[in-house]
Amino acid sequence: GAAALADFGVIGMAVMGRNLAFNVVDHGFDVAVWNREADLMRSAVAESEGRLTGTATYAEFVATLERPRRILMMIQAGKPVDMVLEALQPLLDEGDIVIDGGNSWFEDTRRREASLREVGIRFVGVGVSGGEEGARNGPALMPGGDVDAYERIRPVLEAIAAKTEHGDCVTHVGADGAGHFVKMVHNGIEYADMQFIAEAYDVLQRRLGMGPEELAATFKRWNKGPLSSFLVQITAQIFAKADPDGGWLVDRVLDKAGQKGTGRWTAQVALDLGVSIPSIAAAIDARVLSSMKSDRLRFAKVLKGPKVNADLGITVDDVEAALYAAKIGAYAQGMALIHAGAEEYGWSIDSEEIARIWTGGCIIRARFLETMMEAWRRNPNLANLMVDEKVSTELDERQAAWRRVVGSAVSAGIPVPGMAASLAYYDALRSARLPQNLVQAQRDAFGAHTYQKVNDPEGPFVHSEWL
Ligand code: NAP
Repeated sequence: GAAALADFGVIGMAVMGRNLAFNVVDHGFDVAVWNREADLMRSAVAESEGRLTGTATYAEFVATLERPRRILMMIQAGKPVDMVLEALQPLLDEGDIVIDGGNSWFEDTRRREASLREVGIRFVGVGVSGGEEGARNGPALMPGGDVDAYERIRPVLEAIAAKTEHGDCVTHVGADGAGHFVKMVHNGIEYADMQFIAEAYDVLQRRLGMGPEELAATFKRWNKGPLSSFLVQITAQIFAKADPDGGWLVDRVLDKAGQKGTGRWTAQVALDLGVSIPSIAAAIDARVLSSMKSDRLRFAKVLKGPKVNADLGITVDDVEAALYAAKIGAYAQGMALIHAGAEEYGWSIDSEEIARIWTGGCIIRARFLETMMEAWRRNPNLANLMVDEKVSTELDERQAAWRRVVGSAVSAGIPVPGMAASLAYYDALRSARLPQNLVQAQRDAFGAHTYQKVNDPEGPFVHSEWL
């Protein structure tokens, strides 16, 4: 008889696609695979010992799949996605589901979803986090698109997703581009989290004189407390890694940070939507500044550091508190951006669910996400994470240490743009009055832009002759 049809197809056998395909197969699904370069496809099939079904053409791939077809594309984002969709579309039938698991720009996902819907094909943009290891053993999945289509692919996504005590790390995030939007913000938060940790490292090293062994022990200890997270855990492991040629491997790494773009998108979207994300923006800037290594080497000879270097007597516990408080800032800003995106694009997003699916599999998984889940469970319409009763208390308990650490770093000339941005965000949010009355006065003075009056905040805009 004819060979049984496969339940699921994967296009793209690079690192992510291959590992996701293995993950799907491990959960009892029959998986057909395709890759543009046949060699990658063949090596994946060989490595699977025949558990994956290799196909040579799009037509063969499509013919191998049970209908309605469920196809995951795991290829380079951008133009390649449109090219593959164009080739696939004539071969598909109404009701088939195509999933894009790449790091696609959410506006592209919105466009693709709308145009495929016109021909009866259901397109689901899924944010995937967790890198190679996550793809293989359980990523966090952020699917956006049609609810019906989600229900059809749900058994596969739930099977392969990371599992925590809070369930499978997957939920229907919202319509069309919502999943890729949330993944983009996840990456923005990831940038900030990494930057805060790097700043804590700098302060521990330069203010408290710690070397890699002490740093490894400190981060290992922090990973048992409120800061417990994947990034803190790998940081401890990184500090503990010896260089085979002597010394520590971390000290051999050039201090120029790269980026692939999803963090930058977060800042661009935030500017467009008018959402303040200073800590995430600071993290992106910090990578850019770090990459100017040759300039920094030259400028270091010209620009002088502080003459007075006040010792504020900070402790390791202070740095832990500052790191935790700063981290809250990035999550608060990221969630505010998700809410603004939901408002702009008409997605109904469940904030507690977003926090829940980030508790496992993804790069920003952390104990703190449970505090976030609780915050939105207490109040599903919470306006800002920082004003939740528990979170605001945690910030208050840490603010003295947070200010000491930022102050100590500033005094010593150590840049801490991420921790300082989170602190300024906190201070701005709790300021009933800000100095922007002066900005309004200046705008009115030079451009007759008009202003509103303190005693009539909803009242008419007026103009004065200032000069
Ligand atoms: P990648 O290096 O981003 O992309 C390589 C894959 O794309 C190969 O299978 C390649 O096929 C295929 N491809 C490129 N252009 C194509 C075209 N015109 N037609 C058909 N196939 C084309 O692979 P990756 O690192 O596995 O990532 C896949 C996606 O997941 C990306 O969107 C990435 O941003 C996202 N992602 C990656 C990670 C990660 O940790 N790496 C984590 C989350 C999400 P050939 O072999 O034929 O060139």
